[in-house]
Amino acid sequence: MGMDRQRYPPNWAEISRAARERAGWRCQWCGAAQGEERVSLAGKRDKQDCRPENLAALCQRCHLRYDIDEHVGHARQTRWRKHREAQLQAGQLLLFE
Ligand SMILES: [Zn+2]
Repeated sequence: MGMDRQRYPPNWAEISRAARERAGWRCQWCGAAQGEERVSLAGKRDKQDCRPENLAALCQRCHLRYDIDEHVGHARQTRWRKHREAQLQAGQLLLFE
């Protein structure tokens, strides 16, 4: 799954690092502790929108799931919503909407 660089702002690396550091190098979805290199930053389709609430530091597993949700779109909306509801019930804060 290649990154489309065109969709990322020039200072993405910086933004990404700051956001992952803020998350304590943990996955914000499942809470798994990640090494500095392993946690990655997920963002909405519009990567130029780098507000913190538009981004999430995720482990590889959750990032994969995030991308699937992003790409598949409506067909998976229900599953996505259920996932989020489960997170909310687990008391996890979501940083993006
Ligand atoms: Zn995770």
